[in-house]
Amino acid sequence: MPEGHTIHRLARLHRRALRGRTVRVTSPQGRFAGGAALLDGRISTGVDAYGKHLFYRWSDGPTLHVHLGLYGKFRGYGEAAPLPTAGTRLAMATDDATLHLAGPTACELLDPGEERRLRTRLGPDPLGRRPDPAAFLANLARRTLPIGAALLDQRVVAGIGNVYRSELLFLCRIHPDRPARSLTDTEASRLWAATVAQLRAGERAGRIVTVDPADVGRVRAWALPADQRVYVYKRAGLPCRRCGTTVVSWELAARTISACPTCQPAP
Ligand SMILES: [Zn+2]
Repeated sequence: MPEGHTIHRLARLHRRALRGRTVRVTSPQGRFAGGAALLDGRISTGVDAYGKHLFYRWSDGPTLHVHLGLYGKFRGYGEAAPLPTAGTRLAMATDDATLHLAGPTACELLDPGEERRLRTRLGPDPLGRRPDPAAFLANLARRTLPIGAALLDQRVVAGIGNVYRSELLFLCRIHPDRPARSLTDTEASRLWAATVAQLRAGERAGRIVTVDPADVGRVRAWALPADQRVYVYKRAGLPCRRCGTTVVSWELAARTISACPTCQPAP
């Protein structure tokens, strides 16, 4: 599933493509035909993201809400766009850009009240305009579930997915099984700071690179090959890049999590 950095990057790219333009909106697949007809021909006033949710705003009319979920995918084209596929739920086109969306979990219109209800269910977004650690610390302090599970709970923090949860806990030397509320304020603050820094870097780069290049004998992060970009995610059975201990993995919150037993001492 795309994590918050991908969603915020899409918001930035889509904002650039749509804002101030008249947008032709259709649903080639038909499942969003009613909503598309309502938006068709309106002027885009912007696109923003919160956690893993995208919001498309218009000169008037309701907001378009998109959540990609596990299978959703946007494809972007310039002037020459191919015909949409049979599965294209939503197509948005200006004179020089076209976006095709297929397979989303949500593609719906929201009125302001519905959007407010959606947002109140979400924790703080580390990629928000004023990322505030206080809400994150308070959410952890209230929860007994393992921190590795808490980081995937969008009510605790919005935007973290399976890759970043393993990597952030490794970077902060925190064992995933520790109860969320057992983290000290210092640990939780460092975890928040690392989350903001890592997701910002991921948004800029368009990929997840958590490894300090020096740890793999390189100079530049952007030049790291695919198998050297993370510390522990999908590296079970391989040596830790910092200490050489074998990385382990297990199921936590129905997804596989990885950790180094030496760098991240068990509770
Ligand atoms: Zn280690």
